[in-house]
Amino acid sequence: MNTKEYIELEDKYGAKNYKPLDVVLTEGKGVWVWDVEGKKYLDCLSAYSALNQGHCHPHIVEAMLEQAQKLALTSRAFRNDKLGLFYKKLVDLTGYERVLPMNSGAEAVESAIKIARKWAYVTKGVPKYEAEIIVAAGNFHGRTVTIVSFSTEDFYREAFGPFTPGFKIVTYGNIEEMKAAITPNTAAVMLEPIQGENGVIIPPDGYLKAVAELCKENNVLFIADEIQTGLCRTGKWFAAQHEGVRPDVTIIGKALSGGMYPISAVLADDPVLGLFLPGEHGSTFGGSPLAAAVAVAALEVLDEEHLAERANELGNYFMSKLREIDAPMVKEIRGRGLLIGVELYPEAGGARRYCEMLQEAGILAKETHDHVIRFAPPLIIEKETLDWAIEIIADVLKR
Ligand SMILES: *Cc1c(COP(=O)(O)O)cnc(C)c1O
Repeated sequence: MNTKEYIELEDKYGAKNYKPLDVVLTEGKGVWVWDVEGKKYLDCLSAYSALNQGHCHPHIVEAMLEQAQKLALTSRAFRNDKLGLFYKKLVDLTGYERVLPMNSGAEAVESAIKIARKWAYVTKGVPKYEAEIIVAAGNFHGRTVTIVSFSTEDFYREAFGPFTPGFKIVTYGNIEEMKAAITPNTAAVMLEPIQGENGVIIPPDGYLKAVAELCKENNVLFIADEIQTGLCRTGKWFAAQHEGVRPDVTIIGKALSGGMYPISAVLADDPVLGLFLPGEHGSTFGGSPLAAAVAVAALEVLDEEHLAERANELGNYFMSKLREIDAPMVKEIRGRGLLIGVELYPEAGGARRYCEMLQEAGILAKETHDHVIRFAPPLIIEKETLDWAIEIIADVLKR
């Protein structure tokens, strides 16, 4: 079958909730992917940062194959000999006391909302069912009904009400507004340390720290959604660490499996995550031996290959090189580590066009919103490969 036939098949039988670039991939290794016609591309999206370790990392593949042949799933009705090791690995690496394993990012966000509400009722003493969670405009936390309830993207909500109550929306980056939004019923503030889907929006310096302090003063939980920014992408294990912040709850996903399998987790200390009682929350696949073995291997790669340091060094290099490009259509280049957004002026006619030109030239990137191209290659990328990419990007941006 050829590209056109694969696309026809998808378009004919699939739900139509995506509009992908028309490239049909069949193989991936490290930072490279190949389409069904044999053309090779540099992956500069990394599945929205799920592939920080690169495609099919041999260490993760090995762990996956070994575990798949031994024991894949027990359900949490029984214990397994991999789950505890996964917990221990995450606790040792992150310094949190407890881990709740889930599958998708959205599920982990839902889980964090549930535990924050329970904490508000049981520990803080908020009157039953009056707990509020403050979120930021421009957020992206996933696609469930509850999560789209507090999206500010009309299109994500438009057709899907009625919505879940209990959320307040404030302007991202504005600490005064946040202050004003807090009431005695506030259970938590939930933020992305950098808004990835909103176009790689970095809050003003000191914002996360001020939010953390505000939360502390008001006995409010600070929940950081680090599903995209966490696990080394921005040059540290977690993006909140750039401001020396340790949120009460951190949500991770994506790179937790290196792209091998959907694995997410909620991290927090015992006074919060210790509140779930048996039966109050669960997941058939969450914490399976297969997931646990894959996650341990994925974390080992991040740690042993020093991918946070790499992201930091190469990100700074990449950004400085991008800034040298003299392209009149570029409005701003921003980022942290290897999470970089190139914002174009509206006159450029949209980022999608540029992504298609990049694709033609052998680089896969995806527009986020209309005018931002996101560059987020796997963190294992070599400097030479970046140099190669920068020349192509420069050429395309100048068009
Ligand atoms: C991707 C993402 C999610 C949702 O994760 P899924 O695995 O797609 O459910 C939530 N929050 C952030 C910040 C994300 O980038």
